[in-house]
Amino acid sequence: MAVSAAMPTAKERPRRTRTKRVSALPALKLSKLLPSRIDLRDPLQAVLVCEDCGTWVPITGINSRVQKLVPHHTGKAGVAAAIHCRSSNRRVEFDMTLPEWRQALDDAITEASSRTATTVLPKAFSAETDRTLRARAERTAAGRVADWQAALPRVVDADKARRAVPAGDTPAEARSVPTDHLTVQRLAS
Ligand SMILES: [Zn+2]
Repeated sequence: MAVSAAMPTAKERPRRTRTKRVSALPALKLSKLLPSRIDLRDPLQAVLVCEDCGTWVPITGINSRVQKLVPHHTGKAGVAAAIHCRSSNRRVEFDMTLPEWRQALDDAITEASSRTATTVLPKAFSAETDRTLRARAERTAAGRVADWQAALPRVVDADKARRAVPAGDTPAEARSVPTDHLTVQRLAS
């Protein structure tokens, strides 16, 4: 293995330690953490998300008098730099029982799923608005092209009529405006 790394990387976290060291920081109370940030499914391998570095850290001393976070580096083992987390050896206060934690977790999950399952019902429209919106929704790009193609022959006809020059010579002078009333005259027979 190459020993070229300038900086040591974070060490693998021990599951349990026997050190007597205790962090000076106040104990973490389970009841004050989000239930989803605690994992007590296997109490002997209990872990929680460290408040300081935001990573899962094993809790040591489950069967002892004092429970603590194991000493740990802040990042991923073997990847991140070896930076000591200040919450290493921090006491964990089990101020809730296992069933209580489970219940809190279940409640949080139920709450979260009910939140996402809620469908926002659209406001009721008047019948007219509803019809308009429905028709608008049904109109597609293809539909619009078809509409244009249907209208095209009429457009072409109109253009043709506009371009047509009347047959015959163009009058040299403008006709005088008739001043007499036009009256219907019977042809003398
Ligand atoms: Zn930490």
